[in-house]
Amino acid sequence: MPTANPPIVARQAWGANPANTPAQVISTPTPELWLHHTGSSGLHGAAGMRSLQANARSGGYVDLEYTVVVDTDGTIYMSRGVGRDTAATGGRNSISHAICVMGNFENDPATDRIVDTVASCVLWLSAQRAIQSAQITGPHRDAPGNSTACCGRNLIARIGDINRAVAGGGVTPPAPTPPATSGAPLTTVASPKGSQGRVGTARPVPAFGTVVLDNGARCAGDVASGNARVWVNPDKTVQQVGAALLDIAPTVGGDGQPDGRGFVALYDLKNGTVGTYVVPWA
Ligand SMILES: [Zn+2]
Repeated sequence: MPTANPPIVARQAWGANPANTPAQVISTPTPELWLHHTGSSGLHGAAGMRSLQANARSGGYVDLEYTVVVDTDGTIYMSRGVGRDTAATGGRNSISHAICVMGNFENDPATDRIVDTVASCVLWLSAQRAIQSAQITGPHRDAPGNSTACCGRNLIARIGDINRAVAGGGVTPPAPTPPATSGAPLTTVASPKGSQGRVGTARPVPAFGTVVLDNGARCAGDVASGNARVWVNPDKTVQQVGAALLDIAPTVGGDGQPDGRGFVALYDLKNGTVGTYVVPWA
């Protein structure tokens, strides 16, 4: 059963990087609470937390995003904590908290244990007076101005169950899983071009197998799970996109030299369209 006083693994206990600058303070209680997934099926436990934090930090963030992170075994890890900007939900971070579940719920099953644990997080946040209303506002996907498949269809399908569990209604059986969407149309973006042009060979990501593109860790694609984590412009117009990574390459300026940026093409799982972004390129 969900509880308002769940055990939470402290930052020191999971090995958080002590060099972190704490995220900005926001006013509480917040009107919104968004649900996310990491998009990575392979990252779990304290090691997963450390890896996620390292990715976030090398991507230019002060810390791992999110208020708390939930593992599939029911463990809750402290991330930024209550009353801190989460850098998780573009445009909403100053008025929201964020719970993230480890996994890629486009494919992974959203179990009763996860439902119960997330419900406990909601009750805990409510008991801390972190949120105005003890419920998940919605999946990251539905946050205004955000374009992402996060937190994955299987978990999205259980948000109603989570909110019912918070309200004391207990956990109900999961909704039927919709059929799998077809793979990303790799060939349709064989020659994308940003306004800055491109240099070098574009690297279409293999359709199968996990590929991590580490260009200063600002972009990472996990194509096996159909998900990419991409940190976009410094102005934070798109902070993080959960979508299939199709293509990535550095761009050049008018002088033909690399201009410190890169071009990324993503398949938008929600709208079935190809989105292109220019990102910092270390
Ligand atoms: Zn998200």
